[in-house]
Amino acid sequence: MNGHDSELMESVLISSGFQRVDSEAAANIVILNTCSVREQAEHKAIGRLQQLARRKALEKNFYLGVSGCMAQNLGLELFRRVPALDFAIAPGSIYAIGEVLKRLEHGEKQIFLANGDIETFAEDDTNFCRRKITRVSAFVTIANGCNMNCAYCIVPKTRGRETCRPINNIMHEVQFLVANGVKEIILGGQIVNFYGIRKIPFENGKSPFVQLLEKIHTIDGLERIRFLSPHPSGFRDDLIRSYSDLPKLCPHVHFPIQSGSDRILRAMRRSYTRRMALEILGNLRRSIPAMAISTDLIVGFPGEMEEDFHQTEQLFNEIDFDMAFIFKYSPRAGTSAAAMGNQIPKIISEERNQILLKRLAVTSLRRNQLFLNSHQSVLVEASSAKDPRILWGYTPHHKKVFFPAPEKMIGKIVDVKITRITTCALTGTLASE
Ligand code: SF4
Repeated sequence: MNGHDSELMESVLISSGFQRVDSEAAANIVILNTCSVREQAEHKAIGRLQQLARRKALEKNFYLGVSGCMAQNLGLELFRRVPALDFAIAPGSIYAIGEVLKRLEHGEKQIFLANGDIETFAEDDTNFCRRKITRVSAFVTIANGCNMNCAYCIVPKTRGRETCRPINNIMHEVQFLVANGVKEIILGGQIVNFYGIRKIPFENGKSPFVQLLEKIHTIDGLERIRFLSPHPSGFRDDLIRSYSDLPKLCPHVHFPIQSGSDRILRAMRRSYTRRMALEILGNLRRSIPAMAISTDLIVGFPGEMEEDFHQTEQLFNEIDFDMAFIFKYSPRAGTSAAAMGNQIPKIISEERNQILLKRLAVTSLRRNQLFLNSHQSVLVEASSAKDPRILWGYTPHHKKVFFPAPEKMIGKIVDVKITRITTCALTGTLASE
């Protein structure tokens, strides 16, 4: 989402009359778009801001700003830590970036905009029309913020309450992207599958998110739809059915399960149980047998006993994940988990992390083996940095494929025969265009 927020700010700035330059040295406005999910990221950003602040002393027309989660999390404290800072804008207010710069030009100092200070998603917003399209796959924000309260997560504090973007405005952006060569869109938000849940009524048993998927599916020229990140509790039958009803919806689900132990899920304040999660995953694989499933897992959450970890291990074995992002829990100031007793020693988290990583190497390889000698349609993204004669792209199951082909294939969907697999990628030869 941060990458996409940077693109949005660029669009707003260009429409406000600013220009993009090729290097930081040539810029007279530098904005650091920040992440707060780990404390380490904030320390790095402050260090970088302090370095950049030296330019303020030397250049009269140089403006320095911060956007993103750190702006909301630290607020006015940021100006104390970096006195040369000109502005700080929370994620929900980034659309006001052009206005903020104009206010600075008129002599205002140290401007701070928090989440909620401006309307995040205006019905008539057209800033997306200035998006610089660099890839055949594009991210489209449909919601921002989160109303959940997971014990380990700072996001509700930094991105604020959930807001959702009007359907028509999303449709206009997707139509614009497709008209400009985009073939795949990734619908994004903190919990995408809760999209509009409090604002838009269900229709024929279909949630607002499924209604949105169906609308987007009708756009001619759009080939693939993905979404990120969903919440396990939002996988109701209507969404599961969409995978068979909507051919453009790619057969890959990211399902952030976090733990296999009910006791830990409760402590994390996740709103589902192990049984519910297994049932949903079973239904997904029954509906699309080769469905690729990736997940997020946290090991070493406060109070995680051997038995809890064992349950995560068992669940991990049962599901055969295609991919997993396994995090060693680290306390994040400002979250309730940071104040919990029973913090797990780092050495134990590391051990558990290694156990799951080893297991993942086996399951990823086994899942990738399913594709050996098959033909896959690959959306070609770019040429390899190491060898420009090799192109790469993704299959509908989100498997990265490398294959030799001429550069003119970039942006197309091609048929590739898979001849070799590893744990993290497939290799093949071009079968036809
Ligand atoms: S649902 Fe996701 S974004 Fe929201 S609090 Fe939980 S982990 Fe954070």
